[in-house]
Parts: sequence; structure tokens; C-alpha cells
Amino acid sequence: MQNQPQALSFDKAAFQASVKQHLLTTYAQTPATASARHWYLAMSRALAETSTGNLIDTEQHLAATDCRSVNYLSLEFLIGRLTGNNLISLDLYAPVAEAMAELGQNLTDLLEEERDPALGNGGLGRLAACFMDSLAAQEFPAVGYGLHYEYGLFRQSFDQGRQMEAPDGWRGQEGYPWEIQRPELNQTAGFYGRVEVYTDEQGAQRRRWVPGMQVEGVAWDLPVIGYQNHSVYPLRLWECRAPVPFRLAPFNEGDYVGAQAAAIEAGNITKVLYPNDNHDQGKTLRLMQQYFHCACSVADILRRHLAAGHPIEALAAQETIQLNDTHPTIAIPELMRILLDEHQLSWEAAWSICNQVFAYTNHTLLPEALETWSEALIAELLPRHLEIIFEINHRFMAEVEAKWPGRDDIKQKLSVIQEGGQRMVRMANLCVIGSYAVNGVAALHSELVKRDLFPEFDALFPGKLQNVTNGVTPRRWLKFCNPALSQLIDEKIGTGWPAQLSQLSALADFADDAEFQQRYMAVKKANKQRLADWVADNLGIALDTDAIFDVQIKRLHEYKRQHLNLVHILSLYHRLLNDPQFEMTPRVFIFAAKAAPGYALAKEIIFAINKVAEQVNNDPRLGGKLKVVFIPDYRVSLAEIIIPAADVSEQISTAGKEASGTGNMKLALNGALTVGTMDGANVEIREEVGDDNIFIFGLLVDEVLELKQQGYQPARYYESDSLLKASLDLLLGDTFTPGEPDALAGIRHNLLEGGDPYFVLADFADYVSAQERIDEAYRDQAGWARKAILNTALVGKFSSDRSIRDYVNNIWQLEAVKR
Ligand SMILES: *Cc1c(COP(=O)(O)O)cnc(C)c1O
Repeated sequence: MQNQPQALSFDKAAFQASVKQHLLTTYAQTPATASARHWYLAMSRALAETSTGNLIDTEQHLAATDCRSVNYLSLEFLIGRLTGNNLISLDLYAPVAEAMAELGQNLTDLLEEERDPALGNGGLGRLAACFMDSLAAQEFPAVGYGLHYEYGLFRQSFDQGRQMEAPDGWRGQEGYPWEIQRPELNQTAGFYGRVEVYTDEQGAQRRRWVPGMQVEGVAWDLPVIGYQNHSVYPLRLWECRAPVPFRLAPFNEGDYVGAQAAAIEAGNITKVLYPNDNHDQGKTLRLMQQYFHCACSVADILRRHLAAGHPIEALAAQETIQLNDTHPTIAIPELMRILLDEHQLSWEAAWSICNQVFAYTNHTLLPEALETWSEALIAELLPRHLEIIFEINHRFMAEVEAKWPGRDDIKQKLSVIQEGGQRMVRMANLCVIGSYAVNGVAALHSELVKRDLFPEFDALFPGKLQNVTNGVTPRRWLKFCNPALSQLIDEKIGTGWPAQLSQLSALADFADDAEFQQRYMAVKKANKQRLADWVADNLGIALDTDAIFDVQIKRLHEYKRQHLNLVHILSLYHRLLNDPQFEMTPRVFIFAAKAAPGYALAKEIIFAINKVAEQVNNDPRLGGKLKVVFIPDYRVSLAEIIIPAADVSEQISTAGKEASGTGNMKLALNGALTVGTMDGANVEIREEVGDDNIFIFGLLVDEVLELKQQGYQPARYYESDSLLKASLDLLLGDTFTPGEPDALAGIRHNLLEGGDPYFVLADFADYVSAQERIDEAYRDQAGWARKAILNTALVGKFSSDRSIRDYVNNIWQLEAVKR
């Protein structure tokens, strides 16, 4: 029935029949021949069928409602496994567990059969996934647009401590059960070619792009299921199919080989996700991915708009487009091109629409992450877009001249074109100029965007630069991943919290309640045991659950300072062996992190941690006080086991470098205490939980800048701090790499002779003292329980539902459409 929400009622017999039907007709199995994987696939297909019905119903309902929608454009959606989480959203976890049990299958085991769709690198992609979840939960009309990579982020393993990378074919042989192809929505995208000038019927001179080749964009939808409501929104992922039909002639007369090479290149556009986090590599194929993503997405947005009967001039009233970082910037000149060349709008009319459609989220201040593309490359791949970029910039430069007459220095800084050497197009500048709103992702970060990155833009466009602090979905990051804690919370404060996380504050009343403390810590202990069992089974390392579980899980990057954590571990090792007075609570240091395959120092840090782990874990002199575990292949499903088991959350980036962080939020929500710098969202976590319930250390943003200006000399810290010296010197020789002396010396060299660009040595002493405070606090178990409970209770602000409401109210101006 059209537009009738499917009830959340559950017909067990029909469901079981559907599962068996899929076993047979989709996977050619009978219950007797089916493996656990087959059962997982058939079960997921049966569930996906229902949600596809609701997806189509929601689509039709929204089209008929004439509502305003947000289109979330992101090159990454790190969605994690869907089946378990969708069972929570559908409120079917227990009934499906029972239905499958009757078929002789254990639901928990079946859910382990799903491979993570790793269609993202880290925080940025995970944020996009949490945002889609929160849009659907609150029924704000939305479409997510991304790429259907054949291979997601590489799978990581270790070979004698070194990172190995293997391709991640996330869909498996059988295809991914939650996706559905939508051939009626396919689009095409052009590349290369030339710009043609012609005279239209009104006698006006016009320009149009004649691409040298075209590729097909195949639409795949994944359902984003609203939490216990009836709305299902599409996450639409574009897959590139090789040029069809390949148009040789305009490409390059007679260049057969060149044309074939371009065709092969085009066939590879969505082959693989680029594995860089916070780093711009500037590869041609990456720009092709970006344009392909934007061309298909913008075309689909316009298709919906026009199909609903709206005039093109009304686009901004109906649709807004959020750009997740600068990766989809090219959507701005693409929409301009379509409005100018295909809909024949005037420049002023087209620009006014763009300026009311696009909004841009900045995710980083790191210079190496700010995207620029060579003008020559854009000229070759996208000649018409380059003309439009020039015209945008030309008109913008006139605005700058009007505001600051004669100030060529300011013009140079704000120009979309970076001069000097090879001319480059600055994507962030284009985004700021072309968007009606720009936001940073945490209060501190947004201030630094205004103060350090774009002060002139802030002066020119007052109010355009805003803040929306990131968040995480409480459905996946508490209810689903931590069922024991969720049940305890349900008992105490009811079951409304997953939809309204601020309700958790009611738990604060029980922070001093001895019985609640004891139950809360029993849950933590059971989660630690669950992780310890996993580590024993998969890595063969025994962990003591009485020890402090100290967790640093995030991409490997110098600015995140896993090496600061490592040097602290070395200091504990040194003290345990050399200081008979030294006492410490047993600690398990848990790492998980992937390094970009081309990032040599990051890979050396992984190697060093693995080598130190090998030695430390097997050194009987330490009396089991110190364990180090580097769990390979960090991904969403691994985060879901580690986070509920964490006592301590390491958020130790150099101040000013981490835009927000979201791992910090997930861990605090699950009752881990943060040891962190005044960086990113740590600042706001401290505001919420209070100084007594977080361990803050290290230089502040301005102290880092000041030290840098004075001329930072890391060797001074090394020479004057004997513990630091002893710890760093452990990286020399072959203590951790028997027979291979100085194999870890590169890290020490980077910190001493290399200038220590992330101020590890400057923050070391204060970090050690924060860690000593943690050790002492943990000895008071009731006191620790109180702090942990207050973390869970007081971080309701960091629900991505709140982030989405901030976007809705301050930027997008949407209304919820309830079904
Ligand atoms: C949350 C999350 C991240 C982001 O972690 P940060 O500590 O904020 O960098 C990265 N990867 C995965 C798999 C995550 O779940």
C-alpha cells in the first residue's frame, strides 16, 4: 500500500519463510547445506526487503509532501556493519534472535559473519554515517550521496610487527545483502573534451562543454533506517562503469592509444578508496572520483527537483547541499555549469542559487590536508569547470578590491588561484566563496578557522563562519555496542535515552549510590572480559581484567601522537626495571590504528609499538604490570568491542591539530575517562563532565604557537629530564629488536634532530603526571566508578542528533516530516 508506513509488527513465520526462500533462491542453499555465512546473508536479505519497501514509501511520501531536503555529499561513509544495528532501529533484535534460534541459528554468531563496509578512512567518514543515522532518527528529509568503491580501506595485518595491506573486497562473492541497485536512477558523467561557443536561438553567444568521454554512474541504495520510526532514507552510492558508448573522435583525433588509456582509467574511477586521512595526495584519479561523485549527485538532486514539478529557479527553496570537507567542492562549478549552459540562466541568477544551496564543513587546519588541484589538470579533465572557476574568482576579486582597495596581499591570500610556480586551485577558498554557511566541527576548531585560517573571509562575510560540534549516534555507540550498560541504564532511567541522549543526565543522581556503582563497574568488568576473550582467541595474548584498560584507537598520525603514548610506556618500563620504589596499578595499553600506506613515519611507529609489545609482554621482570596490545585492522566493528571495555581514553593530540575527534565522545559515553589535551572536542567534554572527571594536560593552542615562535628546542627537554632521556634512549640499541640494533631509532631521531614537529617532548612531563593521577584515582574504585558514571551521564550533548539539530536550525532550515 502506497504511503502507508509498514507497521513495526513482526510476523515470525513469514520472516522465517522469507529467510529460507532467500537461502534457496538467492544463495542456492538448503538449511542442510547452508553455512553460517549463508544464514547471515539470507537473514539480512529478508530484513532488507522490508526496509526497501519503507525506503520507496518514504521517497514517495517526501516527494508528495513538497518538503525541503538536505543532500549530504561525502566521499566517505564509514557505516560499519548494518545488520545488527538495523535490528536495533527496527526494534526487532529479540524477535529475530528468537526466529533464528528456531531455525537452529545463533544471532550473535550470524552477525559476526558480516564484513564491515569500510567505505571511509576514519572520523570524517564515520561522522557522515552517524549524521545519516541521526537524520533518519529525527525524520529530517535527507539523501546521502557517496561512492560505491569496489575496494574499501585496505585490510591491515602485521608481519613481524610491520603493517601489511590487503585489498578489502567488502561485498564478498555474493554481493552485499543490504544494497539495492536502482538502474532507473543511473547518470552519466563526462571528462576531457573542449568548450564550444555557439549562438543560441535568441542570437546570444553561449558556451557548452563537449566532453571527450562519458562514463556511466550506477546508483546503489543502502537503507538508512530511522530509529523506531517508519522512515528509511537512501544512502546513494555511485559506481563507475567504463565508458559507454565510448566516444573516440572528440577525445583526441586519431589518438587510439590515448583514448584506450583514458577508458581504462575511467573504468577504475570507483575501484578503490584513497587510504589517506588528513592528507591530500593530489592524484588525477582522485580528482576524477571527486567529479564523478559530484556530477552524478548533482544530476540526481536536479532530477528529483524537476520531477516534483518545481522550476529550476526554486532549487534553493527545496534543496540544500552539505559538502563534507572540500572533497565534493567541484559540485559548485558543476551546478553553475548546468544552470548556465543547460538551463540558460544568467550568471547572476545561477550564482545566487548556488550561494543559497551549498554549505561547507571544514574538518582540518593541517596545511597538508588543505586540497589544491593544479590548474593544468582541471583544464584537461574539466575545461568548462575551469572557465567557471575563473569567472567566480574574477568577480570575487572585484568584491575584495571594493572592501580593501589596493590590497594585493589580501587578494593573493583569498584568491581561488594560488600563484607562484605551478598555478593551483584552492578548493577551500572556492567552498567559502560559493557557500552560504561554513562550519568548523568543535567550538575551539571553529574559533581557529576564524582566527587563523580565514580571518579575512570572516571580515568579508560576517556570520558565514559558524560552529557545529560533532556528535556520535547513541544507537550504535551505546545501545548496540554495549548491551549490558544499556540494560542497566534502561532499568534506572527508562528507555527513552537512545532517542534523547540528554536524558542520561538523570544517571548523575546515582553517581554516589554504592549499589549502582558496583553494578556499573560489574558491567565494565564484563565488557573487559569480552575484549580479553577476543584478544586471547585472536592474538593469543592473556589480559588481566583487573588492570586499567588504556585505549588509543584512531588513525595513526603524528599529530595524534601515538608516539607520546609509546614514550610514556617506555618510561613505565624503565621505572619498573630501575626504580625499586616505583609502584603502579597494572595497565594494559591497547592500540588500534591504520597508517596510510605511503606514510613512512606512521608505519615506523606501528612497528615500534609492536616490537615494544613483544618484549614487554614477555618480560617476567615486570610482574605482569605492563601489557601492550596492538590490535590489527582497526574498523567500526572492532571499535564496538574495544570502546565498552575501556577505562582510559587517550585523546592526546597536539593542541590545535585535532579538529574535533569523535572517538573521544564514544569512549566517554561508555564510561572511559579521558586523558587529553585542550584540543578539539576535548575542551567541550571537559566543560560537560567537569574538571574532576577528566585528566587534562599539556600545552594550550597559544602556548604551542608561542613555543614555536620562540624556536622550540626539543633537545633541551631531553637533556633536562632524566626520565625522558632514559625513555627515548631505549629506542637505541636492540632492547626491542634483538639482533637488529637501532631499528627503532628513526622515531627518536624525528623527535630530537627532526625538531619534534608535534611537541611530544614538550608535553611529556605533564603527560606523565596526568598518568600518575590516573593511577592514583583508579586505586579508589568507588571514586573511579563515580567519575565513570558521571562521564556517561554528562555527555548527552555529544549525540549526533544534537549536531543535526544544530545544522537544521542554524544552517539548513529544515522541517521534520513524520511518517
Ligand atoms: C570513531 C572512529 C574514528 C574516529 O576516531 P578519532 O579518535 O576521533 O580520530 C575512526 N575510525 C573508526 C573506525 C571510528 O569508529
